[in-house]
Amino acid sequence: MKITDLNSEPDIGSNCLFLEIGPFKILVDSGVHPKKAGKAALPKLSHIADFSLDFVILTHCHLDHLGSLPLALRNQPQARVICSQASSMLVKRILRNSVTVMMRQRDETHNKELPLYTYNELDSIEAKLFPLPLQAPKTYRAKNDAITVTLYPAGHVAGAVGVLLEYKDKKHFITGDVLFHDQQTIKGAAFPRIPVDTLIMETTRGATPHHVDLTRESETERLLQCVRDTINNKGSILIAAFAFGRMQEILMMLHAAWKEKTLPACPIFCSGLGVDLAEHFDMIGRKTGTVRYRNYVMKDLRAQPLRGKFVDPGIDLQERGIYLLSSGMLVENTPAWRISANLIGHPNNTIAFVGYCDAATPGGRLLEAKPGDEFPYPHLDYTATIAAKIERFHMSGHADREELLNYVADVGPKTVYLTHGDPPARDWFAEVIPARVPGVKVVNPTPGVTVEV
Ligand SMILES: [Zn+2]
Ligand SMILES: [Zn+2]
Repeated sequence: MKITDLNSEPDIGSNCLFLEIGPFKILVDSGVHPKKAGKAALPKLSHIADFSLDFVILTHCHLDHLGSLPLALRNQPQARVICSQASSMLVKRILRNSVTVMMRQRDETHNKELPLYTYNELDSIEAKLFPLPLQAPKTYRAKNDAITVTLYPAGHVAGAVGVLLEYKDKKHFITGDVLFHDQQTIKGAAFPRIPVDTLIMETTRGATPHHVDLTRESETERLLQCVRDTINNKGSILIAAFAFGRMQEILMMLHAAWKEKTLPACPIFCSGLGVDLAEHFDMIGRKTGTVRYRNYVMKDLRAQPLRGKFVDPGIDLQERGIYLLSSGMLVENTPAWRISANLIGHPNNTIAFVGYCDAATPGGRLLEAKPGDEFPYPHLDYTATIAAKIERFHMSGHADREELLNYVADVGPKTVYLTHGDPPARDWFAEVIPARVPGVKVVNPTPGVTVEV
């Protein structure tokens, strides 16, 4: 097999792998870089311009894996998109939101490259989706040859899969983004523990040591206590969460507390995409049985979409409550960022982060700041003095490095190919894997350079 990492940099960015297995040409994911805009956010798709793809495999619907799929397919009319049934129900809704965001960015930044694709293109993409049931091998015959694809649940987020490719006597496994632990909305990964030749593995948390005393359960309880303290203190709490996955997780968590009567009575506001996706989760749950979220969660909590709640920055919100809003990293001009400009200057309020926060985003900068520091909102012409409590809760959607190392040992690959991690995270795996599993070749790829394994 030949592998080319088409991500533009060795980081978490625009995930896209090009695989050549026998006569088959396969793309795995086609994302956009979360910190870049316009064409700079794209993977190196020009690399596949002269190839005819047999299919694209979509591991899941986070934008760093999905966001450039319409562009990858533009010159590949024959290529079908293999994904889980759950992902097939999310692709169009998430890409539609992505077009809306790009149009808004074009207005704000005058970047003429935006939007990278249009609403019109999305219908044709839906027609190309080819959902596969989980853990059921599917053999494709073409070019007088055959390759077998099997999707395995990867935890992480609704619809996420790991992918087993079997060609002749070789087995190659791609983890995608993976979490082995159960979450509120979905079960943990159920990956095959069989010998494989190649393991293509995510490395997100390679630079994060394992904390034995920090569990998902204890962090959940700490967040609920923080909600109670803030509301009892006559403040509001902003929980900044990604609209896809984490928001529904937090809703389920609040619902469990509501059932136990440990959630204080207060209004709960959610941002629009998260509310929409919650309804998709309900449908996916009913149709596939892979998602536990149901519509009664928002109904019981009387959670409501955030509408017309924006008042001038700096002015505290009249309606004290829980503001569960995206983006999780407080990216500029998102509902979470906008509401933070109201809460940040008042000591009774809390701003809580519950997921990965890149250091270069406003969320990352706020986590580094101290009480009393100034925090600018340039688009609003406002600079706050931080008085609200800033809290971080550790509820990663990614496996920790020890668990991934155990998985490498279990499947005993000849080659491990590292993806989806910043350089220190990849370096840790590159150093530790050969010590733990002797004889394994570790490839820490250079973007755009083809490696034969
Ligand atoms: Zn992901
Ligand atoms: Zn990812």
